[in-house]
Amino acid sequence: MSSIAALSNHTLVKQLVKSSGLDDIYQKVMDHERLSFEDGLRLFENKELAVIGYMANIVRERLHGNRSYFVRNRQLNPTNVCEYSCMFCSFYRREGEDGGYTMTMDEIAQRVRNGISHGIQEIHITSGLHPQLPFSYYTDMLKTIKTEAPTLHIKGFTAVEIEYYAGHYKMTIREVLTKLIEAGLEAMPGGGAEIFADRVRRKICDQKSTVDGWIKVHEMAHELGLMTNATMLYGHIERYDERIDHLIRLRNLQDGSKARGCKGSFNTFIPLKYQHENNRLKKLPQVGAFEDLKVIAVSRLMLDNFPNIKAYWVVIGKNLAQVSLSYGANEIEGTILEETIMSMAGTDSKQGMTTGELVKLISDAGRQPIERDALYNVIREFSPEDIINSNRQVILPVMN
Ligand code: SF4
Repeated sequence: MSSIAALSNHTLVKQLVKSSGLDDIYQKVMDHERLSFEDGLRLFENKELAVIGYMANIVRERLHGNRSYFVRNRQLNPTNVCEYSCMFCSFYRREGEDGGYTMTMDEIAQRVRNGISHGIQEIHITSGLHPQLPFSYYTDMLKTIKTEAPTLHIKGFTAVEIEYYAGHYKMTIREVLTKLIEAGLEAMPGGGAEIFADRVRRKICDQKSTVDGWIKVHEMAHELGLMTNATMLYGHIERYDERIDHLIRLRNLQDGSKARGCKGSFNTFIPLKYQHENNRLKKLPQVGAFEDLKVIAVSRLMLDNFPNIKAYWVVIGKNLAQVSLSYGANEIEGTILEETIMSMAGTDSKQGMTTGELVKLISDAGRQPIERDALYNVIREFSPEDIINSNRQVILPVMN
């Protein structure tokens, strides 16, 4: 793929940008200037998706060239018993309710062994907020995983879980994180952020941690050296200005962690599309592909201090995740192996994706597939021969 930025002087490109009314924002992008709240709002209000995607692709290629990452990972949801009842959630059950479960340490160990047999590099753990489990359940779980697979990278516990443990087990956030790190925690996912706007939180997840709580947990995690991710739940009752407010608060948090000299910081931003099956918000219509791509593109443009934007194929589908690699995303979510939370909300993600499928999706988009480890070190850069084999459905040694 030729560099998209090289087209920037082409007369047709200039005409398209000018006719979109976004030429001042385009100039800021070309000059590496930070976009303002008003710029972000204008991007969401503008219907020229091709121009917005073109600008996001300039930033994406500036940071990553043609490289597109994926990781072999597995999701683990040790319990879906939860004290809260967020309106958009299809996953939670009350204790004793049909469909409620809590895994034993043996079941967790078995899933780790299965993941290792599929070559996973990372395990991604999130749970419901179980009111009856002792805190030692979580530290034992981390130790069990490390005993089974000492080099497996553990990314676990959303900020909502950490804040809940602090209140429930009478500890500070620092104490909770320190104990989990001592037991094996190495990074945190970005879930639970939803939308920071109070107006929306009061309606869709009023029991959940406050914005200040979510932010404090990530600030502390960065201070303690953890890399973390961030998400935004979109496509429900939020407004454009609330999306931009969310992105700018994340950008400010990242600036703050870097200014304080923290060893940790945000690695990746993942937009999450609201799924409408089996939850109390289900009457809302789902947003379409146009909006999905625009959220990815605007996120890439606003979050100038985030290294990575990930397309979460679980919620936008594999084909759109592939297209998003030209709209600002530089990564597609990994193999996953087994997915519970979104499949209970109506997606067809239960079985995950194979390495071969991911390589084909990325290479068919004209990008260079790179398998990464949890810290974005390159494990394997797929050669043209690997890609030809992948297209022929030949099982490569590393494929699951
Ligand atoms: S989103 Fe999380 S906190 Fe809310 S009900 Fe579901 S599992 Fe519980």
